[in-house]
Amino acid sequence: MQKILLIGPQGSGKGTQAEQLAKTYSIPHISTGDIFRQHMSEKTELGKLLESFVNEGKLVPNDVTLEIIKERLAQDDCANGFLFDGYPRNIEQAESIDVLLENLEMTFNHVISLEIPRELVIERLEGRRTCASCGKIYHIRFNPPIIDGICDDDGGKLYQREDDTIEKIASRLETYYTQTEPIIDHYREKGIVSEIDATLDISEVFAKIQEVL
Ligand code: AMP
Repeated sequence: MQKILLIGPQGSGKGTQAEQLAKTYSIPHISTGDIFRQHMSEKTELGKLLESFVNEGKLVPNDVTLEIIKERLAQDDCANGFLFDGYPRNIEQAESIDVLLENLEMTFNHVISLEIPRELVIERLEGRRTCASCGKIYHIRFNPPIIDGICDDDGGKLYQREDDTIEKIASRLETYYTQTEPIIDHYREKGIVSEIDATLDISEVFAKIQEVL
């Protein structure tokens, strides 16, 4: 049973790898960012509260995020494994999820750290486009759709995320390096971390992840 945590800076290809891994191992892809964007596009009460954080590239408060994760983990499809992407994002969240999993007599068995230099992620994020209906991720140069602006899978319109602008990218990366990266050491102590070179092509990164799983 695969219980995976995928970790890496914005633009390291986390979402793209997560989609493929979830399909390959038939496990749910749990992305707090996707869940939040879904609430925002449906304009739920929670969605309205989230807007000021997500669109500004700031972390949503830990208590709000933890509730979302608790609900998601309680769903039946998580009983046979899962892949977390974008949670935990700071040490407090890591401690919360560890306890939550422990109570379910589970633990992450792999933490995959996608490693990439800071300069490269900026270029990747600026060219990122996302399908408005299914969330599939493209890059205008490195991974373009067949028809410009249209999702290959479901014909949805591709859009640029509001938090993918130069200023917001800079602040999100700052948050990543100061708050999220220390989580890797937290899990390194448990001996479950594998580092993967995320500068390679999408298929090469995927093959390397499969090797360690
Ligand atoms: P992502 O799609 O993972 O880049 O997340 C987009 C945005 O959602 C982040 O910039 C945060 O505003 C929010 N978010 C996602 N996951 C978390 C989390 N674990 N804790 C706090 N905020 C989060």
